[in-house]
Amino acid sequence: MNLEQLLDRLKMEHLQVSLDTLCEHASKADLNYREFLEQALSQEWGGRHQRGFESRLKQARLPWVKTLEQFDFSFQPSIDKKTVRELSGLGFVERSENVVLLGPPGVGKTHLAVALAVKAAEACHRVLFMSLDRLVSTLIKARQENRLDRQLQQLTYPRVLVLDEIGYLPMTREEASLFFRLVNRRYERASIILTSNKSFTDWGEVFGDQVIATAILDRLLHHSTTLNIKGESYRLKDKRKAGLIAVNTAKVDTDNPNPEEETAAIN
Ligand code: ADP
Ligand code: MG
Repeated sequence: MNLEQLLDRLKMEHLQVSLDTLCEHASKADLNYREFLEQALSQEWGGRHQRGFESRLKQARLPWVKTLEQFDFSFQPSIDKKTVRELSGLGFVERSENVVLLGPPGVGKTHLAVALAVKAAEACHRVLFMSLDRLVSTLIKARQENRLDRQLQQLTYPRVLVLDEIGYLPMTREEASLFFRLVNRRYERASIILTSNKSFTDWGEVFGDQVIATAILDRLLHHSTTLNIKGESYRLKDKRKAGLIAVNTAKVDTDNPNPEEETAAIN
């Protein structure tokens, strides 16, 4: 077999496409055999890792991809950078701990949750993003079709499950008890990153039942990091700058908690 055939059989397609360039570079840089082999295999490994990452990102169903590097911490001084840096090391994923991001609309909860999910996908962890809305309809449908247990099991496979927008819509007791079953399944097995516009004291109202809310919080917070973001909406900052909205008037309206959402959907 010649080199091309060997690379083909070994499925080293990334090395195959860049082999000529690598050889040229090796001779110019006067690399020894060991250095050349290392570069060649790194090329193949890099290509495979990138492809794996892209496929994990696709499976994660993120609403958009944003990174921690794109997050302007100076705009949100209530966020402890050190805590975020620690979280980005992904020890919480290894330890199956949870992250809870609380705060009013537009302060970057989803951005940070997505950025941590991207980090996890980069580090070869399986990730899944779900808005609470979609989670609830998925679980209700599974129950109706008599496959709730299998569905809950499937939702334990991702190492990181992002549950976005808890608290925007109140839940019925049935929905809350399904949510509890999910949290219970993942408890101490795999991480949840959760975002909510409601503080923990309001969770009884969100879940329509104080007992269920307490049981959910008990499991969720046992091993967890909470970031309580107190600040202004990033979505509105340009409008504020332009003097269209008065400063410090961003308040959560419980009937319509996220009025700027429609325009911000372009983000
Ligand atoms: P929330 O989930 O808290 O309502 P988002 O995370 O969706 O807010 O943020 C709204 C938009 O503003 C997104 O496009 C996000 O990337 C951006 N954003 C929010 N905070 C920041 C920040 N501190 N630096 C950079 N972009 C931000
Ligand atoms: Mg959000």
